[in-house]
Amino acid sequence: MKERIVILGAGESGTGAALLAHAKGYDVFVSDQGVIKEKYKSDLISHGIAFEEGSHTYEKILSATMIIKSPGIPDKTEIIKKAREKNISILDEIEFAFRFIKGKIIAITGTNGKTTTTLLTHHLLKEAGFRVALAGNVGESLAKKVLSGQYDWYVVEMSSFQLDGTKTFRPDIGILLNITPDHLDRYEYQLSNYVHSKFQLIQNMKASDRFIFYADDPITAREIAHRKLTPEIFKVSLNDSLCEAHYNGREMQFVWGDEKFDIEQKDTTLKGPHNLINTMCAVAAARMAGVPIATIRQGLKTFKNAPHRLELVGVINGVEYINDSKATNVDSVVYALGSYAGPLVWIAGGIDKGNDYKQIEEAVRKKVHTLICLGKDNTKLHQAFDRVVKEIKETQSVKELVRMASQSAQKGDVVLLSPACASFDLFKNYEDRGNQFREAVVELAKEVTSK
Ligand code: ADP
Repeated sequence: MKERIVILGAGESGTGAALLAHAKGYDVFVSDQGVIKEKYKSDLISHGIAFEEGSHTYEKILSATMIIKSPGIPDKTEIIKKAREKNISILDEIEFAFRFIKGKIIAITGTNGKTTTTLLTHHLLKEAGFRVALAGNVGESLAKKVLSGQYDWYVVEMSSFQLDGTKTFRPDIGILLNITPDHLDRYEYQLSNYVHSKFQLIQNMKASDRFIFYADDPITAREIAHRKLTPEIFKVSLNDSLCEAHYNGREMQFVWGDEKFDIEQKDTTLKGPHNLINTMCAVAAARMAGVPIATIRQGLKTFKNAPHRLELVGVINGVEYINDSKATNVDSVVYALGSYAGPLVWIAGGIDKGNDYKQIEEAVRKKVHTLICLGKDNTKLHQAFDRVVKEIKETQSVKELVRMASQSAQKGDVVLLSPACASFDLFKNYEDRGNQFREAVVELAKEVTSK
């Protein structure tokens, strides 16, 4: 009899897992408590894969020998508890796909910077002509990539939820960017559980594998000090010259083994101190994978990051407009403010996830002359900045927002949308907020040039 696999959640990863399991000859059943998107449903139907939506039928699910669960489903969900009681093995799609991979893997995790670092690493390997796949949290699922072709390298972005569902997963190169408290609701409000989850990245690594991490991150450093590490380690730092890659205030210096080279940030397309960290990690991984230094240099010049991350969306009358809509917490704003010398018109607001603005007060006082609040309830921003910023304005319309910003900004200023908050009060999501901002800037630019 065929082994029965049940897949919980038919999103990108669930559907990918279903297609791969089906191709490998398993008896597959997919169950989604919500509505399955049309494109995924048609994938399932065209392959003759059985599925249900709108509810979970317990008997059908609990008859499985293996469950592949969407990373979005918490462990405390009733069906997962029941499956554990029955000793059904519960995996993440990445763990399942890993079991069929022939190529090598670079896996990237961290609280912030994953997408940027993953895209950059992928770009550098691609520029070198490697057969490389981009997968995980960004783009297509790893399972789909495993199905779609033969690759020498897989560059995989992994969230902590995905890492939680790994057992044998072992990247050849692992990158840990940072650990700051996030998603603690999924970890019983225990930071140690979240840290443990991130370190699942290296649990199966061998001595010949490489572990790249940002050594200045206090939580990572504390954890490293208490662990016995098997893989070869590679430390990245913004100040410690003893680390294999560090920034000396002028250039990023790489020194390890027989390697010695440096790169200036002005020769890359990424701005800000956080991107020095991301770049050093990606460059180290690419070099370890065998990308020539000349190709790395070239690739850093042509890299285009995903939108909504310090994305330059227009220049009007000598004022740069930056879309950093992805910055939904204060930590991200620290880096955004650190990326510009000022003067700034700063746009913030939305749904606050318990923000403490103290850590950016000084930078705001120094650099920001106008704050425009873009949210339904802006009380906390007022409390934090009424006495810090010269002028505070409010609006709930993006068009008006861009007009206000253009009136407040002088030639040489930067208008920075870096909200520190989630977007759901006024927008569908952060992408919608960033897209509306970009469109409004493009429109204003047209009006100004046609005058
Ligand atoms: P993720 O995929 O982990 O959410 P992104 O690359 O999409 O990360 O970046 C999200 C936001 O986090 C960016 O807007 C930026 O402000 C911030 N960020 C990026 N890299 C880092 C880093 N290394 N450390 C801290 N913050 C970062």
